[in-house]
Amino acid sequence: MANLWLVALASVALLSIESGATLADTSTPQVSYEVKGKAAFCDVTVIYGPNDRGASSSAPGGRAAILYDPDVMANLPYLDAFVFAHECGHHALNHTSMVGLLREGHLFEMKELAADCWGAKALVAAGQDHVLRQQLEIFRSMPGERPGPRYPSFGKRADQIENCAYGDGEVVTDLY
Ligand SMILES: [Zn+2]
Repeated sequence: MANLWLVALASVALLSIESGATLADTSTPQVSYEVKGKAAFCDVTVIYGPNDRGASSSAPGGRAAILYDPDVMANLPYLDAFVFAHECGHHALNHTSMVGLLREGHLFEMKELAADCWGAKALVAAGQDHVLRQQLEIFRSMPGERPGPRYPSFGKRADQIENCAYGDGEVVTDLY
């Protein structure tokens, strides 16, 4: 057992040296990822860094994370608290699990609506109803638009959020 640990430590050390060498290579674009602590609505690490999708969730090796790109998000119609509540929903509903990833294309729109529902309930429970109402107003102002081809429209998302926060909408939990 002790030997195994030594081998493991040695590999880590070797990797550090190698990545150090890579960082010194000026032809490699410098990309920095900053760990920002835990998300407000779940026990998931928030990392700031480049992400074409703006914000997304994953759990590589079982380590749950939300990757958030402030530059991309600045141009998207979302309030931060809503984004993190929504991403926590993806984690809470196991969309980032192995099974969830294997079935990512499948059920995509329904997963987005389920994460919205989970997030809406989390915001209300946290006393952040004002955030939700502001987010609803934004979505309602562009009902026919959608964040991407596979996403539900903002109008549909607003209906879902409203129904989950103030109506009898329930989180769908078996979409992974
Ligand atoms: Zn989502």
